[in-house]
Amino acid sequence: MAEPRRIVIVGTGLAGASAAGALREQGFEGDVLLIGEQRHRPYELPALSKGIMLGDTDDPDWVHDESFYAEKNVELRLRTKATAVHVGDRTIDVGGATEPWDRLVLATGSTPRRLRVPGADYPNIRRLRRLDDARDLRAELTEGKRVVIIGAGWIGCEVAAAARKHGAAVTVIDPLPLPLHRVLGDTVGAVFRKMHETEGVTFHLGVGVAEYTGADGIATGVRLEDGTEVPGDVLLLAVGARPRTELAHEAGLALSEGAGVDVDATLRTSAPDVYAVGDIAAHFHPRLGQRIRVEHWANAKDQGAHVAKNLLGAGEPYTASPYFFSDQYDLGMEFRGLADPFADELVVRGDLEGREFIAFWLRDGAVQAAMNVNMWDDGDALQALVDARARVEPAKLVDADLASLMG
Ligand SMILES: Cc1cc2nc3c(=O)[nH]c(=O)nc-3n(C[C@H](O)[C@H](O)[C@H](O)COP(=O)(O)OP(=O)(O)OC[C@H]3O[C@@H](n4cnc5c(N)ncnc54)[C@H](O)[C@@H]3O)c2cc1C
Repeated sequence: MAEPRRIVIVGTGLAGASAAGALREQGFEGDVLLIGEQRHRPYELPALSKGIMLGDTDDPDWVHDESFYAEKNVELRLRTKATAVHVGDRTIDVGGATEPWDRLVLATGSTPRRLRVPGADYPNIRRLRRLDDARDLRAELTEGKRVVIIGAGWIGCEVAAAARKHGAAVTVIDPLPLPLHRVLGDTVGAVFRKMHETEGVTFHLGVGVAEYTGADGIATGVRLEDGTEVPGDVLLLAVGARPRTELAHEAGLALSEGAGVDVDATLRTSAPDVYAVGDIAAHFHPRLGQRIRVEHWANAKDQGAHVAKNLLGAGEPYTASPYFFSDQYDLGMEFRGLADPFADELVVRGDLEGREFIAFWLRDGAVQAAMNVNMWDDGDALQALVDARARVEPAKLVDADLASLMG
């Protein structure tokens, strides 16, 4: 395949910016145009619900230094929205101009979901996706404020922890029976529930929001499906995100129903020379033998870096196992792999109650996923066990030296 002369990347999140950086690291000397609708240069999202929300910092981790873009001759066009991709012509419409490309990378990320309930248009219902959202929300988390968080997923739980640190009165609502239930299941989800309750969070679990209540055009709380009224000074909606597939859809690229832009093992879409990475990519994972879409930091960073090689003709499959991390109060954790906590066997090593443990999920005797909580010595061993889908007796996972298990 001929070396491209011009590569256009849409999306200045972690995935898009990582791709731009990796292209230069790979020695690509042609044009790189990186387009994003936001006003800030590319930044990473994890600090938005952690360091910034806790008040430890005002800034996120920037993907590159400010000087990087000029030094590496990456044209960074901020405050610019891409509106249409023309696959046949190899062009893209951006902010009133039409730009040609030889290879195109879509890295348009996700946007927070909304609830379709009465009152959903109240302007003070907050969501957390962008740096400005985080700074604005952080300023509201003060002593005595009643903070209502809809959604007990990772972002809801992290913001709950930060809000408690600032002395806010925090209520978290979720239709599922436990926080983080879909990913962690009953036993481990209960650990998070207990921790948050010990820290003073009030939960309404197993019940959804029926409507936002309000007065004078402002939401002042929610009414739950069981009739309970929950008043709030600050309302955060954190019920997950949906991939931003509009550009890809209108360009006629293959999409997995409701779930991202289909890419093959090399991250290439159904259109020649068009790739997709990060939150929007529904990637056929060759080792797992299934299509997965991963909304996590490591996936955005690593797919962005990986796609650079393939843009230049390497054709290498992306095979990394999903990985993510979270911090809440004094609990830090990492999760590797992909599990079904309702079907897979849970094996726990360490002290669940004391929040120092490793949880393994096994299917047919093979390790699907591992989560280390406040235990940091075995990361490489856990990665190896998950990557290999190693078959290990549960008793050994509980007691043996983990590094020895891959022998
Ligand atoms: C608050 C928060 C905390 C998180 N914490 C963690 C964590 O602790 N651990 C973890 O593993 N993961 C975490 N994540 C998830 C992780 O950060 C994301 O999966 C990852 O950043 C996705 O990167 P991305 O580049 O694919 O998408 P995004 O970061 O969403 O970037 C996409 C960019 O494309 C732009 N864009 C979209 N459409 C267009 C268009 N048409 N024209 C121009 N620009 C466009 C968007 O404005 C955006 O800037 C967190 C996410 C959030 C929101």
